[in-house]
Amino acid sequence: MTYGGIEAGGTKWVCAIGTGPDDVQESVVIPTGSPAETIARATTFLAQNGSLAAVGVGSFGPIDLDPSSPTWGRITTTPKAGWNDVDLVSAIAIATRVPVGFDTDVNAAALAEHRWGAAAGLDTFCYITVGTGIGGGGMANGRLLHGLLHPEFGHMRIPHDRGRDPFPGNCPYHGDCLEGLASGQAVNARWPGRAGRWDEEMLSLEAEYLALGILNVISVLSPQRVILGGGVMNEPGLLDAVRRSVQELAGGYFQSPRLADGIGDYIVAPSLGDRAGVLGAFELARSAAAQS
Ligand code: ZN
Repeated sequence: MTYGGIEAGGTKWVCAIGTGPDDVQESVVIPTGSPAETIARATTFLAQNGSLAAVGVGSFGPIDLDPSSPTWGRITTTPKAGWNDVDLVSAIAIATRVPVGFDTDVNAAALAEHRWGAAAGLDTFCYITVGTGIGGGGMANGRLLHGLLHPEFGHMRIPHDRGRDPFPGNCPYHGDCLEGLASGQAVNARWPGRAGRWDEEMLSLEAEYLALGILNVISVLSPQRVILGGGVMNEPGLLDAVRRSVQELAGGYFQSPRLADGIGDYIVAPSLGDRAGVLGAFELARSAAAQS
């Protein structure tokens, strides 16, 4: 069986045909335009292989993942112009005539890391991406995290010392939530023109915000590993600074060697890199095919 995978992002869609990391037969990157145009380009690409068993979509959001909801499969309240209330799954299913698996882009990436990467063999872990925004997903007891809506790690509230950091945050809903303080957009707004030229204060403040968020996730989910990806994490020294900051903020409370000497193997970079999202979409397709 061969699958179609779509990592549907706010700036680009990565589409591929294949079954896994060693079997990506075709792939294409499409800039995100209007919904109709973007979906048509993606499904035309996928249609070149006439024998797909299913298509998986890992999407930017928020999205409706409740199978009992009349709006399941839609993008819901995104600030991205034109994409509010777009029925992504129906449009792709009609165009491709195969079952469509659907989840968040971060849950798709988590699924790929679970099958082929840094979360192999684990049943409770999280995947956090720090890019333009901050997203998070993962598994608890072997199942992808869904629940009320889907996880929104970026919008957790964290302490903000306005004496040290007067930047008010730039989340349109909350101001200084984690995403409003520590996403790539927040970093660029607070320190314009400093990309690739961070100083110690920038590194330590960014690391501390991310560590506060990660410590909340550790406290609630008790993950066996935290995978930390996204473009901002490419900043030299940031991953190590986050690890140190998590250890400091944990205050010696969590009795696990993984938060002590094992921290380097506990908070890790994704092993599938930026391919995790589209590879996870293959896994969503595999599940959709099995259920149909
Ligand atoms: Zn927010």
